[in-house]
Amino acid sequence: MHIPFLSFAPQHNPLREEILAAIAAVYDKQWYILGDEVRVFEAAYALYNQVNHCIGVANGLDALHLTLKALQVGPGDEVIVPSNTYIATWLAISFVGATPVPVEPNPFTYNLDPAYIEAVITSRTKGIMPVHLYGQACAMGPIMTIAERHGLWVVEDNAQAQGSAWEGRLTGSFGAANGTSFYPGKNLGALGDAGAITTNSEELANQLRILRNYGSQQKYYNEVIGHNSRLDELQAAVLSVKLPHLLVWTQQRQEVARLYDQHLRGLGDLILPAIEVGATHVYHLYVVRTQFRDALQQHLTKHGVGTLIHYPVPPHRQQAYAHLHMNLGTYPIAEELAATSLSLPLWPGMQSEQVSEVASIVNSFFVNQ
Ligand SMILES: *Cc1c(COP(=O)(O)O)cnc(C)c1O
Repeated sequence: MHIPFLSFAPQHNPLREEILAAIAAVYDKQWYILGDEVRVFEAAYALYNQVNHCIGVANGLDALHLTLKALQVGPGDEVIVPSNTYIATWLAISFVGATPVPVEPNPFTYNLDPAYIEAVITSRTKGIMPVHLYGQACAMGPIMTIAERHGLWVVEDNAQAQGSAWEGRLTGSFGAANGTSFYPGKNLGALGDAGAITTNSEELANQLRILRNYGSQQKYYNEVIGHNSRLDELQAAVLSVKLPHLLVWTQQRQEVARLYDQHLRGLGDLILPAIEVGATHVYHLYVVRTQFRDALQQHLTKHGVGTLIHYPVPPHRQQAYAHLHMNLGTYPIAEELAATSLSLPLWPGMQSEQVSEVASIVNSFFVNQ
């Protein structure tokens, strides 16, 4: 039996006719940039995320970058960011000329630890960028309290956590403005690159609409130095077909995770995902940890099971950030997570037999160790 890391088939096969019809409608209408499809999806996603505004953009990285630009973050400013995120969160800060100030995560939830935040706040700190990593909501209550106490903004990186919540309130609705990604493998995925910003601020929403479209409201009149980062009509049409199914897909992800939890508990030194009280987890990824990560990954590969490592190198150890001179040992929790984490196969519609098969191969690794 071959079990891939990810399959789109159970999501996309039943929607094939509907999605192709939506694409054909855009094709025939001959309006390809910033039209009704983007407007309709933005309204639907704002409603879904329980915010006043959604601004569709080209990808998740642009969503974060343009948001920092709209907040007028720039050189000399410091932004607090997790030490163990996907590099996009750091890149957004670097693009506006500000300095990423890493904070270590809780070693079991993998999310920003509010207890470590205040120690790094300086007079130059402007904001905090929590990342709801792997799909679990950060402790947004304590994070918002710290931000308010110090007069900082919050920008959530909600790329992995569409539909997740902290104490009943959806991620992507706490920050001044928040970025998300519709990269194909994300919980809500387009058929290519796409992203969005969610905000309750009308002022930020207006600025972001200008920034994504050449700094222009009126064609050929440019108010600011803007970007070309528009959500495509085609991708918006596809996302509008998929959005109503997100809740069921999330439940299917949670069921797969529940089965993994059940099958994998107590195996060797294996550490399973831990959920903080108050948070929900939408399982963008099911990440386990072991000192024998590389050997376990090889064992799974040998038995036809696809896995990935999220992420093998933390941002501060990437060559792109070599100029920061953050040596090995600077952020030990992030480094430990990079050395021990392994993401198991998980997708909405993954069969329970497939989950048991993966679990029994993991089990055979620890039994024969
Ligand atoms: C995917 C992702 C992004 C970037 O999204 P793109 O659409 O690929 O640009 C940003 N942050 C996190 C945590 C992500 O997982």
